[in-house]
Amino acid sequence: MTNRDGALPGDPYAICDNLVKIYKVADLEVVALQGLDLVVNRGEFMAIIGNSGSGKSSLLNILGGLDSPSAGSCIVGGMDLVKASESDLVFYKRYKVGFIWQQSARNLIPYLTAFENVQAPMLFANILGQSRKKRAEQLLEAVGLQDRMHHKLAQLSGGQQQRVAIAIALANDPDLLLADEPTGEVDNETAAQIYDALRKLNRERGLTIVIVSHDRNIAQRVDRVVAIRDGRTSTETVRRVGAEEADQTTHDEFVIVDDTGRLQIPEEYLEQLGISERAIVEVEDGRVVIKPSNGDARPGSDDSPANRGLFRRRAG
Ligand code: ADP
Ligand code: MG
Repeated sequence: MTNRDGALPGDPYAICDNLVKIYKVADLEVVALQGLDLVVNRGEFMAIIGNSGSGKSSLLNILGGLDSPSAGSCIVGGMDLVKASESDLVFYKRYKVGFIWQQSARNLIPYLTAFENVQAPMLFANILGQSRKKRAEQLLEAVGLQDRMHHKLAQLSGGQQQRVAIAIALANDPDLLLADEPTGEVDNETAAQIYDALRKLNRERGLTIVIVSHDRNIAQRVDRVVAIRDGRTSTETVRRVGAEEADQTTHDEFVIVDDTGRLQIPEEYLEQLGISERAIVEVEDGRVVIKPSNGDARPGSDDSPANRGLFRRRAG
């Protein structure tokens, strides 16, 4: 299977390199992303998880061409979003990428029917009447809403509205779908319906999907999960090949090591071993072993800046 532009599924599609995002609010600087690396492959159904404030939305806005990073690069489908002209970005946002927000109201026009809502983005793209209507029908069918097409949004449940939002995001046939906490405001059963619709679109259309969420259970739903902590990627969980047929899904979890050799040690391990300011790193029998330094194993160890060594744990 090759894609429209001849690329193969599995090729790197979005490449974020050393992304930094700093927001300036009055005299304050908030560092949302601090050197984040991420590769999303073409045709992948993946999720980015992290606590509130870890930088998920900042990352998604950059991937969607809605915001630009303070430093670093972000290339999607061969387009360098940082260097792109204003008109290239308009083209990118209109035809290459679709966005779904947590609050379905942000995706939808309330006084129009589902059918009319899905046609709205196509009007901007000058898609003519008959093909526009046909395409809106097909998209609503693809998300399982063929019998709700002519309902106004207020007559639809939260999950149905989010599925209309998915159809809208796909109206102009993008290659990439970005979803920011798409199930944040719905119950579990509704969330399952939304994930099923996304999975189907991923399989049948080869759509590349990136979901951001604070919900760790999303790992059961997608092929790969990348965790971000403090604006950097920290661990990666990959669904094992063939696991789909098994009764229980198995996952392999990896810690991400960046270009300069930095990695994040899971917080619970740091706590278990009493590692806070620095650690000893040694090679033993072909393994890298990380041990608490003596100073750290003792409670109340010296916190002076001069004592901060190899692996510093960020405060907070
Ligand atoms: P998440 O989506 O994981 O909750 P965000 O990317 O929204 O994280 O936010 C990361 C950090 O950046 C937070 O500390 C947040 O307060 C800050 N932040 C996000 N957007 C803005 C903004 N527009 N102005 C100032 N600070 C922001
Ligand atoms: Mg967010």
